[in-house]
Order: sequence, then structure tokens, then C-alpha cells
Amino acid sequence: MAPSKGIIPFNKPYAGEAAVSAVNRVLQGQTFAGGGPFTQRCKDYFSERFGFEHTFLTSSCTDALEMCALLLDLKEGDEIIVPSYTYVTSALAFRRQGANIIFADSQARHPNINIQTLDKLISPKTKAIVAVHYAGMGSNLYQLKELCTTHNLVLIEDAAQAIDAYFDNKPLGSFGQLACMSFHETKNIHCGEGGMLIVNDDKFTGRAQILLDKGTNRSDFRRGLVKKYECVDIGSSFLASELQAAFLYGQLEHLDAIQSTRLNIWNRYNDAFQDLPTGWIPFVPELSRHNAHCFYLTLPSEYTWSDLTQFLKKRNISSVTHYQALHKSPFFKNTYQGEDLCHADYFTNSLVRLPLFAELTLEQQLRIIESVFEFERQVSI
Ligand SMILES: *Cc1c(COP(=O)(O)O)cnc(C)c1O
Repeated sequence: MAPSKGIIPFNKPYAGEAAVSAVNRVLQGQTFAGGGPFTQRCKDYFSERFGFEHTFLTSSCTDALEMCALLLDLKEGDEIIVPSYTYVTSALAFRRQGANIIFADSQARHPNINIQTLDKLISPKTKAIVAVHYAGMGSNLYQLKELCTTHNLVLIEDAAQAIDAYFDNKPLGSFGQLACMSFHETKNIHCGEGGMLIVNDDKFTGRAQILLDKGTNRSDFRRGLVKKYECVDIGSSFLASELQAAFLYGQLEHLDAIQSTRLNIWNRYNDAFQDLPTGWIPFVPELSRHNAHCFYLTLPSEYTWSDLTQFLKKRNISSVTHYQALHKSPFFKNTYQGEDLCHADYFTNSLVRLPLFAELTLEQQLRIIESVFEFERQVSI
């Protein structure tokens, strides 16, 4: 079989020379646990490049979200507003700390949270709104911030997919009091499993450090402020090891190259698919400059995502849908008492992500594009 007909994977995590050599440096050294020199380099990079002054490298974005839940000091009955169309831990991190999750709908043309529906979801028990930047696209962030200020709520950005993505030229991750990023192998920049908490409100910084230090005042000890460190709060082992930090730093050194490759691929899909019927290609929200995290199509309601993924599978192309709306999930559906979330349902039924990774070749991409048009011709007869 000709190599061009081999299976095109949905994702192929990129390692890169720099990541490999950084990991080798850790292996030759003495520091393997978290908080070492590579952790510091990553933190410096995030501060210099994106202006994130207070970052905490964690083992996952889920960890960072769980730190947010702890920082909120949730009490029984407290409510957190989360879009239904998102990854499970955007909601579970808060549920685990006892919060009631209030699910919000998506926008009609974009999976992000629908700001128009929020007024009626906010109650005296609401503590925070989680804004997920789907596909690395931010939307309505000024209005979200304003709404949170008016109601005294914490804005938390689930910026898992949003490294090097911007809203009104400001980096995603800089809008909420708290923001979380993921460095899971499915994201643009990764270290296998990894994440980061970004603290943009100083009132949370000291306590975030204590949570990361497993509930101790170890950072005071490191700075010589106390003779011994002791248990001062709750906490857990959230931090990333130096192995993860080194791999991540190597990836950051290639960030510009990775991003420009991904953006080229994204734009090639987007240009080619201008000829598809309206509504199939992604709508990029106003003021959003995305990071080519993923390219997706949304099919008209007569079809479901599996019609296209099956069709592509027969042509050796792996494509996948994304989230299943959480308000209808086995875990949440029995307690869900809100309204129908028709846009979240629509993205659940219709969304298909196409292969997008740094090493996708032009030839492979043209094969994917051709196959999508073949599907479209077949269904539109
Ligand atoms: C990937 C992702 C997460 C989870 O990230 P982990 O690092 O795997 O914990 C959470 N939220 C969103 C929106 C994601 O895309």
C-alpha cells in the first residue's frame, strides 16, 4: 500500500529535540521533584512572554481547577456556573468540593458559554463562573468580567486549550482572577500530562502557594522566614515534577514554530472549506485571535458527527467528535433541573474535529479536505 494511503491519526503529540535534551539534563542532575530550575524557567517564560506574574505548574489542568475550587472555600449549597459543553473536570473539580454545578448553554454559533443566559442562572449562592475557551477562542470576556464584578463572582478561565491565544490582543489566561491551562499531550504544547494555575488576583497568591506546598508554609521556610515548616491549611500534591517541567520548557522553546505550523494547517482547512454549506466551518468570535488548537466542522441537524467520522474512517482518516453535554451525562442528568440547553446539544450531536498536528503533511491534509468534500457531495444529493 502506498504510504499516502496509510492511516492519518487524529493527533500525533510532538516531542522535539529541545524537550528531549532538557529531559536529559534533568536525568543527569540531582533535582527530579517539582519546584526546581526548569519549573522556574517555565514560570519566567510565562511571565516574560504573556505577563502571567503568578503561575503554579501542576500535574494537570484538572489539578489547577481543583486548586481553584479549594481557593474559593466552597460551602455546601454554593453554586458554580459551568458550560455544559466542556470537559468533565471543568465541572467535577468544583463538584468534588461540594458545589452545585449550574450548567449554562453554549452560544448558537460557538461552543463557548452563552452570556445572554447567565443573568437568570446567577443566584445569591453563585460563587464563580467558569469560562471555557473552546478551540483556543475567547469570547465576550469584557462582558463576562463586568458581569462577575457586578455580582461579586470570581471569573475562572478554563484556558486548557488556550496557550498563546488572545482576546482583543490580550492573552487568554489574563482575564479571570484565576485561570487554568493544560499541557496534556492533546494540547498545542505539552509534557504528557501537565497543567498550570495562573493567579491574577493577589488575594489568592499566598494561599495558592500553600495549596501547592501540600498545605504547609514551606515557601516561608525556603525564604528563611520560619525555622520549620508546618501544616497551615489544606493542600495536596498538585505540583509537576522537574521531568514534566523540563519537557514543557523544551516545548516552549519551540512554541513559535509549533504555532505557525498549526496556524498554517488551520488556515488551509478554513480556506478550502469556504465552499462548504454555511454553518459547517468554525465561527471565530469577535476580537478572538485563536491558536489553531483544533479545527472542527459542525454538521447540519439531519446528520450526526458519526456519519462523518465513519465516512472518513473508511478512507483511513481518524477524526473525532468532542464533548458530550454534561447536563445529560449519567453522573449529572438525574440532578439536572435546568432548562433545555439546545446549543450544547447541537454541538454534542454535530461537531467533528479533523486531524491537526505539527507533523501533518500537506499531502495528508489534501486527502482529508478531498474526503470531506466527497462526504458533502454525497449527503447533499
Ligand atoms: C484538556 C482539558 C481539560 C483537562 O486538562 P488535563 O490537563 O487533562 O487535566 C480541562 N478543560 C478543558 C476545556 C480541556 O480541553
